[in-house]
Amino acid sequence: MEYISTRGNDKRTPSMAILKGLAADGGLFMPEYIPKMDIPLSGLAEMDYRELAYNILKLYLTDFTEEELRECVNKAYDSKFDDKAIVPLKKKGDAYYLELFHGPTIAFKDMALSILPWLLTTAAKKNGVKERIVILTATSGDTGKAALEGFKDVPGTSIVVFYPKDGVSPVQEKQMLTTGGENTFVVGIYGNFDEAQSGVKEIFNDKAFEKTLKDRGILLSSANSINIGRLTPQIVYYYYAYLDLLKKGIIKEGDRINIAVPTGNFGNILAAYFAKEMGLPVNKLICASNENKVLYDFFSTDIYDRNRDFFVTTSPSMDILISSNLERLIYLITGRDAEKTSDLMKSLADIGRYEILPKEAEGLESFYGGFASEKETEEEIRKVFDDSGYVIDTHTAVASFVYRKYKEETGDDRPTVIASTASPFKFQQSVIKALSPEDAGDDEEILTDRLSEIAKVDIPYAVLSLRNAPIRHDIKCSPEEMKETLIRILEK
Ligand SMILES: *Cc1c(COP(=O)(O)O)cnc(C)c1O
Repeated sequence: MEYISTRGNDKRTPSMAILKGLAADGGLFMPEYIPKMDIPLSGLAEMDYRELAYNILKLYLTDFTEEELRECVNKAYDSKFDDKAIVPLKKKGDAYYLELFHGPTIAFKDMALSILPWLLTTAAKKNGVKERIVILTATSGDTGKAALEGFKDVPGTSIVVFYPKDGVSPVQEKQMLTTGGENTFVVGIYGNFDEAQSGVKEIFNDKAFEKTLKDRGILLSSANSINIGRLTPQIVYYYYAYLDLLKKGIIKEGDRINIAVPTGNFGNILAAYFAKEMGLPVNKLICASNENKVLYDFFSTDIYDRNRDFFVTTSPSMDILISSNLERLIYLITGRDAEKTSDLMKSLADIGRYEILPKEAEGLESFYGGFASEKETEEEIRKVFDDSGYVIDTHTAVASFVYRKYKEETGDDRPTVIASTASPFKFQQSVIKALSPEDAGDDEEILTDRLSEIAKVDIPYAVLSLRNAPIRHDIKCSPEEMKETLIRILEK
């Protein structure tokens, strides 16, 4: 299997596509075809998470040996997840919540970022890359910590994360600054996320700097969500959820389910679409947005238009106006027309919008788009708690609300899996505000205790361990000094 750029001018083996991340022509790598699952569902149902992950990933990462791939999977999905199932599925009310937040940073980014470092270092070895791999990432909060945890102490790598000094939540900042490991570096920028992001992009585009680093045995890479090494591991848990329903006798083999996903960059829901295309019996993919509802508008008008106000919401990981991974779906619905995809993406870059044709829009029929306002999100947290005593985070609440709206509108009551992307402890201010407004605004530690009491759930280790954790990182710089700072770090 080879990987082809959505813009047509780059083609690589799976391991090279992982190493490169982004294609040389600016496009995203796509497998030449979406492989069909060759094992019957009843056979897959016997497997544990790791075995299932191996059997799915081997269809995509065809130049990895069985031994290499199994080792990556085993190193990723181990005791750093605090639930033996890795992704427990919980029935609450009439929906099935797939808890993707049992990893080290209690958000779903851990599902991919705990395996990416191993895929990347294995890919480097396979391709004779001798350099030390240095991961550069700009983060607005969640990705940074998940990437730090993923790459921490992985031999042959270092990771440098830049974050806006005053642009992340206190919990997110503390999570990053207390990260252990000898190969992790965290830098606060006196600027906003866009400046951090531009600074990182500039470093990546500096060919002379790339050469200097190469001479010193260093190769820069990124842990960005468009890497196929992040996309493919996300297919696994949708299979896992289906098989769990099958094993519990809630569905029969072949029955179709719905999947609802709180969406930002379109990576998580695209993985569910891949699962469907591989043969998993899925009816609708319910794409849930917050008030930044650019995707909802796209599904209802066939026009993607980022020219609009940007809202800061209580589900910040979905505050996105350019959903990068949508380019892969566009490529598929245009019949893998790289020229057409390039034109649409050029239009997005130039004027901030593009429109697809009616016959292309037919390719979107698997999707249902919806959105939740801030008020609806807060009310959903309350409603789910009142109905079943279950506490969900703000992102999950967006999907939960949109699912209910879908069900009312269509009368479709088949089993529906809701991707639960973060622990409520990660966004506890907003969750407490919905459930117990008189406690909102309290000190973070008091809120954590209160939430644990309300939810009847133990405080996750990721939160508890922050309490007495020493601050281990204190580098700060202006956006202009990012490259110099990176050089100083690499000289250590
Ligand atoms: C990143 C993230 C999302 C959005 O996922 P995409 O793959 O970008 O669509 C949703 N919820 C949480 C908690 C996240 O961290």
